[in-house]
Amino acid sequence: MTKDVTIIGAGAVGIASALSILETGQTVELIDRDEPAAGASHGNAGVISPWTCVPQSMPGVWKSVPKWLMDPEGPLSVRWRYLPQFLPWAIRFIRAGQADKLPAIADAMMALNRPNVDLYRHHLSGTGKEDLVRDSYYVHAYKDPALIDLNQIGWRMRTERGVPLQVVQDGELREVEPALSSEYRAAVLIKDQARAMDPGSIGKALAEKAESMGAIFHRAGVQSISPIDGGGWQITTDNGEMTAKTVVVAAGAWSVRLLKPLGVNVPLEAERGYHVILKDPGITINNSIMDTHAKFVASSMAAGVRCAGTAEFAGLDAPPNYRRAKALVANAKRLFPDINTEDTVEWMGNRPSFPDSLPCIGPVPGYENLFAAFGHSHYGFGMAPATGRIVANIVRGVEPNTDLTPYRIERFG
Ligand SMILES: Cc1cc2nc3c(=O)[nH]c(=O)nc-3n(C[C@H](O)[C@H](O)[C@H](O)COP(=O)(O)OP(=O)(O)OC[C@H]3O[C@@H](n4cnc5c(N)ncnc54)[C@H](O)[C@@H]3O)c2cc1C
Repeated sequence: MTKDVTIIGAGAVGIASALSILETGQTVELIDRDEPAAGASHGNAGVISPWTCVPQSMPGVWKSVPKWLMDPEGPLSVRWRYLPQFLPWAIRFIRAGQADKLPAIADAMMALNRPNVDLYRHHLSGTGKEDLVRDSYYVHAYKDPALIDLNQIGWRMRTERGVPLQVVQDGELREVEPALSSEYRAAVLIKDQARAMDPGSIGKALAEKAESMGAIFHRAGVQSISPIDGGGWQITTDNGEMTAKTVVVAAGAWSVRLLKPLGVNVPLEAERGYHVILKDPGITINNSIMDTHAKFVASSMAAGVRCAGTAEFAGLDAPPNYRRAKALVANAKRLFPDINTEDTVEWMGNRPSFPDSLPCIGPVPGYENLFAAFGHSHYGFGMAPATGRIVANIVRGVEPNTDLTPYRIERFG
């Protein structure tokens, strides 16, 4: 028990928590079976938006589900064998999208996202990797200008919260994104945000910074955690036993496996997503682009153009279905007709998703010195730095500035 805090999981959330913990003068160690930022935090779409406040579950979203499920290359897929496990989560997901629940969810999402660009720049300063975060718009591209309705609930939620939006069409859109297909005739620009040139490299740069500030990284798979009589935690790993004063579970989609044996049951799903990198694209994209029809995000990154998205429910252990990544290649070609799709890299990762798109952050009920910091679904790369600040406070008993009520584990009953 040499360190003040032991974090299980060195993804974006664990690493950002370590940095903030170190900044408060506490000591910290991290345990991960893999190298830092090798999970979902490696392959995401790199959108860093202070304005993210629209959850995945929205009123009427279920109406699109049959159409999506029928299309093997569509944005949603459920492996039939996994359906019995998935259905209870899906019902909670649909309930979470009821109109009366949305304002509180939107505020809670925004509270975690609002400082993300500043905090990433703060954490990256001095690493020599500052350039990995670039200013960006979030271009929501539409084929038909008539489809843009800023009174539609998602856009209204944004405008009510002061999100800077601009609608552009044809020539004006082409000026922003010259490589975009002329089939896409309009877009809503979400301004004043950022994008990552390589999310995994950001994670690794921040892990190195944490290490230089005194953090210890252990490479081991955690098999179980159990409270020790008289205080502290016993951590059983595939590399031997460890003890800890205070444990933060930041193990992404796997977190529930560590907590279930302690009687903590939360509806955390592995919402699998894919990316494809077009290594020699022959085009440059200036911003993060959301194809509002095919529902994926494209962005120029250090290794090429990355197209990321899709939601697949198949459980944590099912092998990847790279047909879903290949479908992103065809979608990329529709969005950017001149893109060269010859040399590609495919990837699959597990979003840690709760039905209400909010994470669990805070004490684990019934246990001393055990904290949750997981379940950031589609937004965890952006939410990680603010989560880290909160974690750094609560582990030393300091009330954070953010109201933690929406993120409590107890909200699931
Ligand atoms: C296709 C895709 C696109 C996305 N795009 C965006 C985006 O543009 N912007 C955004 O904000 N978010 C995005 N996300 C979501 C974001 O990537 C995740 O929410 C975020 O990375 C979660 O971070 P994490 O640290 O909680 O989990 P992870 O990055 O998955 O890290 C968890 C870590 O815990 C370790 N671990 C787990 N169990 C154990 C164990 N028992 N023992 C030891 N180690 C363990 C794992 O090895 C892993 O390193 C996207 C996700 C996907 C899949």
